Amino acid sequence: MNKTINIILLLQASVFFNVEFCKNLHAEQYQDRILQGIPVNNSEEIDTEIIQAVKGKFNILAVPAFTRGGTYYKSNVINSWNGVKDDFEPFNYLVTSARKNSIRVYAILGVYYWGGKIFKEVPAAMLFNSGKSSVATPCPANPKTNKLIINIAEEVIAKFKADGIVIDMLTLHGERDCVCELCIQEFDKIANTNLANVLKGIDGYARVGKAIPSDSPLVQLREKYSALRSEQKERLLTELIAACKRTGPNIPVITIINERDINLHYNLVKKGVIDRVLIMDYNYGLKGDGAYQSFQSQAQRQAKLFSDIQKSKLIIGACSYSDVIERGKRLPKPPADLQREIELVRSLGYPISLYYSGETTDAQLNMLSAIFSAATDAKSTAKQDNSRR
Ligand SMILES: [Zn+2]
Repeated sequence: MNKTINIILLLQASVFFNVEFCKNLHAEQYQDRILQGIPVNNSEEIDTEIIQAVKGKFNILAVPAFTRGGTYYKSNVINSWNGVKDDFEPFNYLVTSARKNSIRVYAILGVYYWGGKIFKEVPAAMLFNSGKSSVATPCPANPKTNKLIINIAEEVIAKFKADGIVIDMLTLHGERDCVCELCIQEFDKIANTNLANVLKGIDGYARVGKAIPSDSPLVQLREKYSALRSEQKERLLTELIAACKRTGPNIPVITIINERDINLHYNLVKKGVIDRVLIMDYNYGLKGDGAYQSFQSQAQRQAKLFSDIQKSKLIIGACSYSDVIERGKRLPKPPADLQREIELVRSLGYPISLYYSGETTDAQLNMLSAIFSAATDAKSTAKQDNSRR
């Protein structure tokens, strides 16, 4: 759009100055401002969350519908739900209040660690126990696991008419991966060897901080193994997203990514399966500044990768939780975290969407405004660059 049209629009808008104009102006400044709702299950806390979302000018509230502990609504698929009283559904209440305030609601589906009540409810074969008695990872090789996740997604979309879905499979499979019968069978087909031994071998080197020697047969096996896991995750994501689109036609789907699954997500965005990706930086603070720097360069690499497809498909995540800070002690203070997000947004040099997960005190909201402004700066810089071409 050229400058003349922009000026005309601005003049028109200032004549008919109204709420709609403010909304448009804000949309112009920032593509989407998504606030991740903290899982709460009483109406007072939800009310506060909505007030802060409005104050912080968020246009989307991403709310956990299903997380590691169960559902935030009464589900017909599983019994594990996090409501306090039988007659109060936190997810339903939050969706209704958000809509009244013109905020769109995206349902978060946690496809990663499961624990608590779910742990007791689903068959053991669907889960991979990572060593802790109360937490498990769903096995992506198990069709029953995938079906359960898909059914929950369909239920959430049908029941609440969610405006979008956020799939969190960030930590689906960590350093110790599933070695259930199905995974062993699948691996055996492609590698003709025992998966458990291969993983033990890989783990052995990792534990002493050594790289696997290049002449070790483990090198090739590890490649086959990660290709298999990628394929399993791709299968799960593709089926899950197809089910979401069937239930809610045109429903946007966001997936949260990390370095490990970057190519998988990149390919699925390219194929048009995933609509948008979110780079989330939950973990950097726990490991100190070095880890943050690695996140930042990782985010820049990923941003560059995704800019090949379409920049608007990328969302940057920001996070600040003082409870984590108090527990971890090593974390920088929240404003410092957010200050770094500003630097990151500026360094990317183009407008992006922001996904904020954390506290919404006035101080945090002020910092977020600064990030929004940073994105506006980035956008005007990008516009100037374009006009020079
Ligand atoms: Zn398995």
